[in-house]
Amino acid sequence: MRAVVYEEYGAPPAVTEVPAPACPPGGAVLEVRATGVCRSDWHAWRGHEPVPLPHVPGHEVAGVVAEVGAGVTRWRPGDRVTVPFVCGCGACEYCLAGDAQVCPHQTQPGFTGPGSFAERVAVRAADTNLVALPDSVDFVAAASLGCRFATAFRALTAHGRPAPGDWLAVHGCGGVGLSAVLIGVALGARVVAVDLSPAALDRARALGAEHVVPAGADTAAAIRELTGGGATVSIDALGSPATAAASVRCLRRRGRHVQAGLLLDGPTPLPMDVVVAYELAIHGTHGLAAAGYPPLLAMLADGSLRPELLVGRVIGLADAPAALAAMDHPPAGAGMTVIDLGAS
Ligand SMILES: [Zn+2]
Ligand SMILES: [Zn+2]
Repeated sequence: MRAVVYEEYGAPPAVTEVPAPACPPGGAVLEVRATGVCRSDWHAWRGHEPVPLPHVPGHEVAGVVAEVGAGVTRWRPGDRVTVPFVCGCGACEYCLAGDAQVCPHQTQPGFTGPGSFAERVAVRAADTNLVALPDSVDFVAAASLGCRFATAFRALTAHGRPAPGDWLAVHGCGGVGLSAVLIGVALGARVVAVDLSPAALDRARALGAEHVVPAGADTAAAIRELTGGGATVSIDALGSPATAAASVRCLRRRGRHVQAGLLLDGPTPLPMDVVVAYELAIHGTHGLAAAGYPPLLAMLADGSLRPELLVGRVIGLADAPAALAAMDHPPAGAGMTVIDLGAS
């Protein structure tokens, strides 16, 4: 089969013939129809996080079941599916409770093993990790959920839970942040979006943000002013000490902060004095388990959520190596790139 492969960190990725993956017991092999290009793939390629070499990137996949392993009961060849970027083991207490997004034995195709920039990809624990796609959701739209849209959906529907009319502050308008703007508007929230980049703020406004605020020392005060006392829900979609602190400080009393951006540098100070005095809630959020996809897909199917608004361009597999390498400085607000394997 054809796949995008790199031999070493930073070495030019290329479309290469490689053996198709074997089907794991309890797992499935998917025929990939569309897959998103994510900055996380670029980080792995640059060696910022370890992956097995040589490596096939890709973790935002939609396709068709080609094979199922022994013991799989819910799926058969031909089923249209997508897969969360965090795959659970299927056997632990968290997976059994529907919370595979925090499985202690989680795997991630495209990081812990070969990914979906390929004609086929293997997924383990198929009964836990595959998600059925409604007929009305096409493969490019499903791949465009990626890690960003699914992460933002859980952040807002499981943790932030803005009611219609509530103010929602979104700190950082990259992939997760713009997804949060779109989802927040669909939920009826009034959105204030924050970013350093004027282009990203323009995108946020186009997607329905009522106010935009340039990131800076006065971000939290500006949001409290615009919202008449602070946001009810605020999400740090970027993941930095400054955005996390601003997200907490912009809340009104009894508000909820959701930390979606990864804080990879370790312990991060938050204004806990404000958390106590205002009775704020602090939530961490990590992806979206397969069990959490049906309400998201229902909102796609009925048209109330349109993730395709976040797609910048659709390319073939032949153009994927260049697209991966170009993720070093993705232009702010340019939208995501999706590889359509039906097009190449
Ligand atoms: Zn598990
Ligand atoms: Zn991703």
